[in-house]
Amino acid sequence: MDTVDASAHYSQSIDEKPSLLVLILDTNPYAWSTLSPTLPLERALASILIFINAHLAFSHANRVAVIASHTKSARFLYPVPTAAAASATGGGGSKEEALRDANKYRQFRLVEDQVQASFAQLMKETTVDGLRDAKETMMAGALGLALAFVNRLARVDDAAGGGAKDGGGRGGGGGGGGAGAGGTAAGEVTSMNARILVISVSGDLAEQYVPVMNSIFAAQRKRIPIDICKVAGETVFLQQASDTTRGIFMQLEHPESLLQYLMMCFIPDNATRRHLIPPTQINVDFRAACFCHKNVVDIGFVCSICLSIFCTPPEGAICTTCNTKLDISALGNFGRKPAVVLTKKKRTKKLKPSKATSFSNEASATSTPGTPAS
Ligand SMILES: [Zn+2]
Ligand SMILES: [Zn+2]
Repeated sequence: MDTVDASAHYSQSIDEKPSLLVLILDTNPYAWSTLSPTLPLERALASILIFINAHLAFSHANRVAVIASHTKSARFLYPVPTAAAASATGGGGSKEEALRDANKYRQFRLVEDQVQASFAQLMKETTVDGLRDAKETMMAGALGLALAFVNRLARVDDAAGGGAKDGGGRGGGGGGGGAGAGGTAAGEVTSMNARILVISVSGDLAEQYVPVMNSIFAAQRKRIPIDICKVAGETVFLQQASDTTRGIFMQLEHPESLLQYLMMCFIPDNATRRHLIPPTQINVDFRAACFCHKNVVDIGFVCSICLSIFCTPPEGAICTTCNTKLDISALGNFGRKPAVVLTKKKRTKKLKPSKATSFSNEASATSTPGTPAS
Protein backbone atom coordinates (compact mmCIF):
# COMPACT_ATOMS: atom_id res chain seq x y z
CA MET A 1 0.00 0.00 0.00
CA ASP A 2 2.91 2.29 0.71
CA THR A 3 3.87 2.28 -2.95
CA VAL A 4 0.68 4.05 -4.01
CA ASP A 5 0.90 6.67 -1.26
CA ALA A 6 0.18 10.03 -2.86
CA SER A 7 2.58 11.93 -0.61
CA ALA A 8 5.52 9.95 -1.99
CA HIS A 9 4.41 10.87 -5.48
CA TYR A 10 4.28 14.57 -4.63
CA SER A 11 7.68 14.60 -2.99
CA GLN A 12 9.12 13.44 -6.29
CA SER A 13 7.61 16.19 -8.40
CA ILE A 14 8.04 18.99 -5.88
CA ASP A 15 11.49 19.95 -7.15
CA GLU A 16 9.99 21.59 -10.24
CA LYS A 17 11.23 25.13 -10.45
CA PRO A 18 8.65 27.89 -10.14
CA SER A 19 8.30 30.03 -13.18
CA LEU A 20 8.64 33.75 -13.56
CA LEU A 21 6.74 35.48 -16.34
CA VAL A 22 7.80 39.00 -17.29
CA LEU A 23 5.16 40.40 -19.60
CA ILE A 24 6.01 43.45 -21.71
CA LEU A 25 2.92 45.19 -23.01
CA ASP A 26 3.41 47.62 -25.86
CA THR A 27 1.09 50.48 -24.84
CA ASN A 28 1.75 52.80 -27.76
CA PRO A 29 -1.64 54.56 -28.18
CA TYR A 30 -1.02 55.14 -31.90
CA ALA A 31 -0.75 51.46 -32.68
CA TRP A 32 -3.67 50.51 -30.44
CA SER A 33 -5.91 53.13 -32.05
CA THR A 34 -5.57 51.35 -35.41
CA LEU A 35 -6.61 48.11 -33.71
CA SER A 36 -9.56 49.57 -31.81
CA PRO A 37 -12.31 48.19 -34.12
CA THR A 38 -11.16 44.61 -33.53
CA LEU A 39 -9.31 44.68 -30.22
CA PRO A 40 -9.58 47.75 -27.97
CA LEU A 41 -6.73 48.14 -25.49
CA GLU A 42 -9.08 47.69 -22.52
CA ARG A 43 -10.23 44.33 -23.80
CA ALA A 44 -6.67 43.29 -24.50
CA LEU A 45 -5.72 44.23 -20.95
CA ALA A 46 -8.62 42.18 -19.56
CA SER A 47 -7.45 39.16 -21.59
CA ILE A 48 -3.89 39.66 -20.36
CA LEU A 49 -5.05 39.73 -16.75
CA ILE A 50 -6.88 36.41 -17.22
CA PHE A 51 -3.71 34.97 -18.74
CA ILE A 52 -1.65 36.21 -15.79
CA ASN A 53 -4.12 34.65 -13.35
CA ALA A 54 -3.81 31.34 -15.18
CA HIS A 55 -0.03 31.54 -14.90
CA LEU A 56 -0.25 32.27 -11.17
CA ALA A 57 -2.76 29.46 -10.66
CA PHE A 58 -0.27 26.83 -11.83
CA SER A 59 1.82 27.16 -8.71
CA HIS A 60 1.75 29.33 -5.61
CA ALA A 61 5.44 30.01 -6.15
CA ASN A 62 4.99 31.36 -9.67
CA ARG A 63 5.70 35.06 -10.05
CA VAL A 64 4.77 37.68 -12.56
CA ALA A 65 5.87 41.16 -13.58
CA VAL A 66 4.16 43.47 -16.05
CA ILE A 67 6.09 46.21 -17.85
CA ALA A 68 4.54 48.87 -20.07
CA SER A 69 6.58 49.81 -23.12
CA HIS A 70 5.17 53.26 -23.73
CA THR A 71 6.02 55.87 -26.36
CA LYS A 72 8.95 57.52 -24.62
CA SER A 73 9.44 55.48 -21.49
CA ALA A 74 9.16 52.01 -20.06
CA ARG A 75 7.88 51.35 -16.57
CA PHE A 76 6.63 48.63 -14.28
CA LEU A 77 2.87 48.20 -13.99
CA TYR A 78 3.40 45.36 -11.52
CA PRO A 79 5.07 45.11 -9.10
CA VAL A 80 5.36 48.74 -8.07
CA PRO A 81 6.73 50.10 -4.78
CA THR A 82 4.14 49.99 -1.99
CA ALA A 83 3.98 53.76 -1.54
CA ALA A 84 3.30 54.29 -5.24
CA ALA A 85 0.75 51.48 -5.25
CA ALA A 86 -1.11 52.99 -2.29
CA SER A 87 -1.33 56.39 -3.93
CA ALA A 88 -2.35 54.90 -7.28
CA THR A 89 -5.16 52.80 -5.83
CA GLY A 90 -6.39 55.74 -3.76
CA GLY A 91 -4.93 54.73 -0.39
CA GLY A 92 -8.00 54.76 1.87
CA GLY A 93 -11.07 52.57 1.51
CA SER A 94 -8.98 49.45 1.27
CA LYS A 95 -11.35 47.66 3.64
CA GLU A 96 -14.27 48.16 1.28
CA GLU A 97 -12.06 47.10 -1.60
CA ALA A 98 -11.13 43.94 0.25
CA LEU A 99 -14.79 43.15 0.99
CA ARG A 100 -15.76 43.75 -2.63
CA ASP A 101 -13.64 40.87 -3.84
CA ALA A 102 -13.66 38.77 -0.72
CA ASN A 103 -14.19 35.60 -2.75
CA LYS A 104 -11.30 36.21 -5.12
CA TYR A 105 -7.90 34.59 -4.62
CA ARG A 106 -5.87 37.32 -2.99
CA GLN A 107 -2.91 37.17 -5.35
CA PHE A 108 -5.22 37.56 -8.38
CA ARG A 109 -6.82 40.64 -6.84
CA LEU A 110 -3.49 42.22 -5.88
CA VAL A 111 -2.10 41.85 -9.39
CA GLU A 112 -5.30 42.99 -11.11
CA ASP A 113 -5.75 46.05 -8.91
CA GLN A 114 -2.17 47.13 -9.21
CA VAL A 115 -1.89 46.61 -12.97
CA GLN A 116 -5.14 48.47 -13.62
CA ALA A 117 -4.23 51.33 -11.27
CA SER A 118 -0.73 51.73 -12.74
CA PHE A 119 -2.12 51.51 -16.24
CA ALA A 120 -4.71 54.22 -15.53
CA GLN A 121 -1.97 56.37 -14.03
CA LEU A 122 0.19 55.88 -17.13
CA MET A 123 -2.66 56.88 -19.44
CA LYS A 124 -3.43 59.90 -17.25
CA GLU A 125 0.15 61.08 -17.61
CA THR A 126 0.07 60.64 -21.39
CA THR A 127 -0.72 64.00 -22.96
CA VAL A 128 -1.59 64.86 -26.55
CA ASP A 129 1.57 66.95 -26.82
CA GLY A 130 3.64 64.03 -25.63
CA LEU A 131 2.20 61.81 -28.35
CA ARG A 132 3.22 64.11 -31.17
CA ASP A 133 5.80 62.35 -33.36
CA ALA A 134 5.90 59.48 -30.92
CA LYS A 135 5.08 56.50 -33.08
CA GLU A 136 7.73 54.20 -31.67
CA THR A 137 7.69 52.24 -28.46
CA MET A 138 10.43 52.02 -25.83
CA MET A 139 11.05 48.31 -26.37
CA ALA A 140 14.77 48.49 -25.60
CA GLY A 141 14.08 50.06 -22.20
CA ALA A 142 11.36 47.53 -21.43
CA LEU A 143 13.63 44.59 -22.31
CA GLY A 144 16.33 46.10 -20.11
CA LEU A 145 13.92 46.40 -17.18
CA ALA A 146 12.72 42.84 -17.72
CA LEU A 147 16.26 41.42 -17.76
CA ALA A 148 17.20 43.41 -14.67
CA PHE A 149 14.10 42.15 -12.85
CA VAL A 150 14.83 38.52 -13.75
CA ASN A 151 18.44 38.93 -12.66
CA ARG A 152 17.46 40.51 -9.37
CA LEU A 153 14.86 37.88 -8.52
CA ALA A 154 17.14 35.01 -9.44
CA ARG A 155 19.93 36.51 -7.35
CA VAL A 156 17.64 37.09 -4.37
CA ASP A 157 16.43 33.51 -4.54
CA ASP A 158 19.95 32.17 -4.84
CA ALA A 159 20.99 34.05 -1.71
CA ALA A 160 19.28 31.59 0.59
CA GLY A 161 21.31 32.71 3.60
CA GLY A 162 19.85 36.20 3.89
CA GLY A 163 16.29 34.92 3.62
CA ALA A 164 14.60 37.37 6.00
CA LYS A 165 16.27 40.44 4.59
CA ASP A 166 15.71 39.45 0.99
CA GLY A 167 12.12 38.50 1.65
CA GLY A 168 11.51 41.97 3.04
CA GLY A 169 13.06 43.54 -0.03
CA ARG A 170 10.81 41.57 -2.30
CA GLY A 171 7.80 42.44 -0.14
CA GLY A 172 8.52 46.10 -0.81
CA GLY A 173 8.87 45.53 -4.52
CA GLY A 174 6.05 43.06 -4.74
CA GLY A 175 3.50 45.42 -3.29
CA GLY A 176 3.08 43.98 0.20
CA GLY A 177 1.29 40.89 1.42
CA GLY A 178 1.13 38.98 -1.83
CA ALA A 179 4.85 38.52 -1.95
CA GLY A 180 4.95 37.63 1.74
CA ALA A 181 3.85 34.07 1.10
CA GLY A 182 6.53 33.71 -1.57
CA GLY A 183 9.06 35.33 0.75
CA THR A 184 9.03 32.43 3.18
CA ALA A 185 9.68 30.02 0.33
CA ALA A 186 12.56 32.11 -0.99
CA GLY A 187 15.18 30.13 0.89
CA GLU A 188 14.03 26.90 -0.75
CA VAL A 189 14.08 28.18 -4.27
CA THR A 190 17.45 27.92 -5.95
CA SER A 191 16.45 29.59 -9.18
CA MET A 192 13.45 30.24 -11.36
CA ASN A 193 12.41 29.38 -14.88
CA ALA A 194 12.18 32.89 -16.26
CA ARG A 195 10.70 33.92 -19.56
CA ILE A 196 9.80 37.21 -21.20
CA LEU A 197 6.63 37.64 -23.23
CA VAL A 198 6.31 40.68 -25.48
CA ILE A 199 2.85 41.68 -26.65
CA SER A 200 3.79 43.92 -29.53
CA VAL A 201 1.62 46.17 -31.68
CA SER A 202 4.11 48.76 -32.96
CA GLY A 203 6.05 48.46 -36.17
CA ASP A 204 9.61 49.47 -36.78
CA LEU A 205 12.23 49.35 -34.03
CA ALA A 206 15.20 50.33 -36.21
CA GLU A 207 15.95 53.40 -34.05
CA GLN A 208 16.68 51.11 -31.11
CA TYR A 209 18.62 48.51 -33.06
CA VAL A 210 21.76 48.40 -30.91
CA PRO A 211 20.12 48.36 -27.44
CA VAL A 212 17.50 45.84 -28.56
CA MET A 213 20.16 43.50 -29.98
CA ASN A 214 22.23 43.87 -26.80
CA SER A 215 19.19 42.88 -24.73
CA ILE A 216 18.58 39.90 -27.00
CA PHE A 217 22.14 38.64 -26.60
CA ALA A 218 21.97 39.18 -22.83
CA ALA A 219 18.78 37.09 -22.73
CA GLN A 220 20.40 34.43 -24.88
CA ARG A 221 23.34 34.25 -22.51
CA LYS A 222 21.05 33.95 -19.48
CA ARG A 223 18.90 31.38 -21.32
CA ILE A 224 15.78 33.47 -20.96
CA PRO A 225 13.43 32.85 -23.89
CA ILE A 226 11.77 35.94 -25.36
CA ASP A 227 8.30 35.05 -26.63
CA ILE A 228 6.71 37.37 -29.14
CA CYS A 229 2.97 37.77 -29.48
CA LYS A 230 2.73 40.00 -32.54
CA VAL A 231 -0.76 41.50 -32.54
CA ALA A 232 -0.08 44.02 -35.32
CA GLY A 233 2.77 45.59 -37.27
CA GLU A 234 5.98 43.95 -38.38
CA THR A 235 9.30 44.09 -36.61
CA VAL A 236 12.45 42.50 -37.91
CA PHE A 237 14.26 42.56 -34.58
CA LEU A 238 11.56 40.91 -32.51
CA GLN A 239 11.63 37.98 -34.95
CA GLN A 240 15.35 37.74 -34.32
CA ALA A 241 14.74 38.04 -30.57
CA SER A 242 12.52 34.97 -30.43
CA ASP A 243 14.74 33.01 -32.82
CA THR A 244 17.97 33.81 -30.96
CA THR A 245 16.57 33.02 -27.52
CA ARG A 246 14.50 30.03 -28.71
CA GLY A 247 11.26 31.67 -27.74
CA ILE A 248 7.82 31.37 -29.28
CA PHE A 249 6.84 33.62 -32.15
CA MET A 250 3.20 34.07 -33.04
CA GLN A 251 1.77 36.53 -35.53
CA LEU A 252 -1.93 36.80 -34.73
CA GLU A 253 -4.26 36.34 -37.67
CA HIS A 254 -7.29 37.19 -35.57
CA PRO A 255 -6.28 39.78 -32.96
CA GLU A 256 -9.77 39.73 -31.45
CA SER A 257 -9.01 36.22 -30.12
CA LEU A 258 -6.00 37.39 -28.12
CA LEU A 259 -6.96 35.39 -25.03
CA GLN A 260 -7.15 32.10 -26.95
CA TYR A 261 -3.73 32.70 -28.47
CA LEU A 262 -2.25 33.52 -25.08
CA MET A 263 -3.75 30.46 -23.39
CA MET A 264 -2.93 28.01 -26.19
CA CYS A 265 0.55 29.18 -27.19
CA PHE A 266 2.15 31.11 -24.37
CA ILE A 267 1.07 29.40 -21.15
CA PRO A 268 3.62 26.51 -21.15
CA ASP A 269 6.75 27.33 -19.17
CA ASN A 270 10.28 26.45 -20.24
CA ALA A 271 10.17 22.99 -18.68
CA THR A 272 6.86 22.04 -20.32
CA ARG A 273 8.00 23.23 -23.73
CA ARG A 274 10.49 20.39 -23.95
CA HIS A 275 7.53 18.06 -24.48
CA LEU A 276 5.72 20.28 -26.97
CA ILE A 277 6.33 21.71 -30.41
CA PRO A 278 5.90 25.43 -29.78
CA PRO A 279 5.09 27.74 -32.71
CA THR A 280 8.13 29.53 -34.10
CA GLN A 281 8.98 31.59 -37.14
CA ILE A 282 10.22 29.47 -40.05
CA ASN A 283 11.51 32.29 -42.24
CA VAL A 284 13.34 34.66 -39.95
CA ASP A 285 14.27 38.08 -41.28
CA PHE A 286 17.96 38.42 -40.33
CA ARG A 287 18.52 41.88 -41.72
CA ALA A 288 20.33 44.49 -39.61
CA ALA A 289 19.98 48.25 -39.30
CA CYS A 290 22.79 50.58 -40.35
CA PHE A 291 24.36 52.58 -37.52
CA CYS A 292 24.38 55.82 -39.54
CA HIS A 293 20.72 56.24 -40.54
CA LYS A 294 19.00 53.46 -38.58
CA ASN A 295 17.65 51.97 -41.78
CA VAL A 296 17.12 48.26 -42.18
CA VAL A 297 19.56 47.27 -44.93
CA ASP A 298 19.88 44.22 -47.16
CA ILE A 299 23.52 44.90 -48.02
CA GLY A 300 25.99 46.99 -46.03
CA PHE A 301 29.59 47.70 -44.99
CA VAL A 302 30.99 46.33 -41.76
CA CYS A 303 33.83 47.96 -39.81
CA SER A 304 36.58 45.36 -39.48
CA ILE A 305 37.42 46.55 -35.96
CA CYS A 306 34.11 47.08 -34.14
CA LEU A 307 31.66 45.40 -36.55
CA SER A 308 29.53 48.54 -36.92
CA ILE A 309 27.27 48.39 -39.95
CA PHE A 310 27.01 51.20 -42.52
CA CYS A 311 24.79 51.51 -45.56
CA THR A 312 27.54 53.43 -47.45
CA PRO A 313 31.29 53.69 -46.69
CA PRO A 314 31.66 56.19 -43.79
CA GLU A 315 32.81 59.70 -44.67
CA GLY A 316 36.59 60.10 -44.78
CA ALA A 317 36.84 56.34 -44.32
CA ILE A 318 36.71 56.83 -40.56
CA CYS A 319 34.40 54.55 -38.60
CA THR A 320 31.95 56.76 -36.68
CA THR A 321 31.78 54.27 -33.82
CA CYS A 322 35.42 53.45 -33.05
CA ASN A 323 37.16 56.25 -35.03
CA THR A 324 39.41 53.77 -36.79
CA LYS A 325 40.81 54.88 -40.12
CA LEU A 326 39.71 52.19 -42.53
CA ASP A 327 41.51 51.33 -45.71
CA ILE A 328 38.80 51.51 -48.34
CA SER A 329 41.14 52.31 -51.24
CA ALA A 330 40.84 48.78 -52.47
CA LEU A 331 37.13 49.29 -52.81
CA GLY A 332 37.65 51.36 -55.97
CA ASN A 333 34.63 50.86 -58.11
CA PHE A 334 33.06 48.90 -55.32
CA GLY A 335 32.23 52.23 -53.70
CA ARG A 336 29.01 52.24 -55.62
CA LYS A 337 28.52 48.55 -55.31
CA PRO A 338 28.80 47.42 -51.68
CA ALA A 339 31.60 44.97 -51.16
CA VAL A 340 30.16 43.09 -48.26
CA VAL A 341 27.12 40.94 -48.56
CA LEU A 342 25.81 41.10 -45.02
CA THR A 343 22.77 38.88 -45.09
CA LYS A 344 20.21 37.76 -47.52
CA LYS A 345 16.80 39.31 -47.12
CA LYS A 346 15.04 36.17 -46.08
CA ARG A 347 17.02 33.20 -45.00
CA THR A 348 15.49 29.91 -44.15
CA LYS A 349 16.07 29.09 -40.54
CA LYS A 350 18.83 26.63 -39.91
CA LEU A 351 18.34 23.69 -37.66
CA LYS A 352 21.07 24.91 -35.34
CA PRO A 353 20.27 28.60 -34.76
CA SER A 354 23.43 29.25 -32.73
CA LYS A 355 25.38 30.02 -35.90
CA ALA A 356 22.67 31.94 -37.66
CA THR A 357 22.38 34.46 -34.82
CA SER A 358 25.84 35.95 -34.96
CA PHE A 359 25.39 37.58 -38.33
CA SER A 360 28.01 40.22 -37.73
CA ASN A 361 30.70 37.70 -36.91
CA GLU A 362 29.83 35.83 -40.02
CA ALA A 363 30.00 39.00 -42.09
CA SER A 364 33.34 39.97 -40.66
CA ALA A 365 34.70 36.52 -41.24
CA THR A 366 33.84 36.54 -44.92
CA SER A 367 35.20 39.98 -45.75
CA THR A 368 35.61 43.52 -44.48
CA PRO A 369 35.35 46.95 -46.12
CA GLY A 370 39.08 46.92 -46.65
CA THR A 371 38.99 43.76 -48.69
CA PRO A 372 36.56 43.72 -51.58
CA ALA A 373 34.50 40.62 -51.90
CA SER A 374 35.36 38.41 -54.77
ZN1 LIG B 1 22.92 54.38 -43.04
ZN1 LIG C 1 34.53 50.69 -36.10
